[in-house]
Amino acid sequence: MKGIIKKSASAVLCLLLAAAAALTLCSCDQLYEFFNYDLSIDENEPEPVAQLVSHYIDVGQGDCSFIELPDGTTMLIDAGVTDMADSIANYIRNLGYDRIDYVVATHPHSDHIGGMRRVINQFDVGSVYMPKAETDTYTYEKLLKAVKDKGLKIKTAKAGVNIVNSTDPVFKVDIIAPVKQNYEDLNNASAVIKISYNDISFLYMGDAEEISEQDILSSKADIRADIVKVGHHGSYNSSCKEFVEAVGASYGIISCGKGNDYGHPHKKAVDRWEKTGTTLLRTDQCGTITVSSDGTNYYIETEKE
Ligand SMILES: [Zn+2]
Repeated sequence: MKGIIKKSASAVLCLLLAAAAALTLCSCDQLYEFFNYDLSIDENEPEPVAQLVSHYIDVGQGDCSFIELPDGTTMLIDAGVTDMADSIANYIRNLGYDRIDYVVATHPHSDHIGGMRRVINQFDVGSVYMPKAETDTYTYEKLLKAVKDKGLKIKTAKAGVNIVNSTDPVFKVDIIAPVKQNYEDLNNASAVIKISYNDISFLYMGDAEEISEQDILSSKADIRADIVKVGHHGSYNSSCKEFVEAVGASYGIISCGKGNDYGHPHKKAVDRWEKTGTTLLRTDQCGTITVSSDGTNYYIETEKE
């Protein structure tokens, strides 16, 4: 049975404030006793379990996920619009990183790759993955140049590519789409990523729509996931019934901007997930959402209530 604890950041803040208040009233030893902490070091105590933390960064109308993998490496999936670059870079630096091991541009639309050039320029980068889907926009051309200037070659993101296969701790990062090439709509060329860490799995859909979802279903890839980053900001063109049922997620994260021009998320898509028993959390309502997991349980924290 998976334990699920959802606690908002403000709840954590309340706990910290309570601790600060208690500090003024009692000594340190009393405080630790108050919280039932044991200050003695037990050499037989097991090592703390490595954590996977998936940050769904609030970038308004756009997409950006930053993942701290259990082996200490990091992954960035998309980087919002151009104006979000500095806040994404600051967010990552505030977590203590100056290196991003894996960068994935799901597809070359500006709400996904807009901020990527300036983020790449500010960090030491391991490898960059993109699907074979080109466009002629200024943003895209500049991103290609930034990758080249960094001395990196773009690796093709397509179904069947394994990005990480770790045995200690056991986790995997796989690309499960695009299954085909030359989709008419760039959204369907989106790289879809699945990360599994022991019992817990995460799916990141980019802007994949029903055409890609059907191809994924036909590919027989294992798409079951506990937490899904819902496709295309919750558009009705994505999240078809069969796909939603096959994923069977407990939680779905929708990345969208408040009052966006597209009306995302669309009611039809929201209904399909909720009817399947998936609880949806939205960045326009919750701010940045983080999911931490030790491979057995997971814990969800939201920036806002
Ligand atoms: Zn998008």
